[in-house]
Amino acid sequence: MLTLVLGFILLFLAAVFYWLSARQRRASGLPGGRVIYADTRAWGPLEKPLFDGQLGLTGKPDYLVEQDGRFIPVEVKTGRTPSAPHDSHIFQLAAYCRLVEKTYGKRPPYGILHYPGRDFAVDYTPELESALLDLLAEMRRDERRESVGRSHADPARCRGCGFRSVCDQKLA
Ligand code: SF4
Repeated sequence: MLTLVLGFILLFLAAVFYWLSARQRRASGLPGGRVIYADTRAWGPLEKPLFDGQLGLTGKPDYLVEQDGRFIPVEVKTGRTPSAPHDSHIFQLAAYCRLVEKTYGKRPPYGILHYPGRDFAVDYTPELESALLDLLAEMRRDERRESVGRSHADPARCRGCGFRSVCDQKLA
């Protein structure tokens, strides 16, 4: 049951991050990703989700890699490899960086997005953290509203959305 609840929370976070990310990126100038070579043998899975009580945020990156006494979160993405990381993925990774910092007491300098054909390092800058906090605050505000309008006109996004079955604004 707990696994189901946590799964739902993660799915919800991913969907909302995707929904809001375009707006946030314009406002904040998110860092792009640097292509890196990542040695997957050093990646270790997590046993339990990480938790930030201050933000009420929980989540579990796919892997953590220890580097110079710090933990770097790794998020694995399937499907087509983009030429640059998607904004929604950057925000999700930023949330994991924040959770890692709160849990282990050391700030990760960056996180890794692992696509099938390429790995990107995304710097966890103060600007990215600030954009994440703004996004979470905006989500909380929207949670209290009776209805929140669709923020895009992309049917493909709706086709891949976990809320499609209950959304009255879906495009596909
Ligand atoms: S189905 Fe609804 S919630 Fe999902 S992406 Fe489309 S408009 Fe947004």
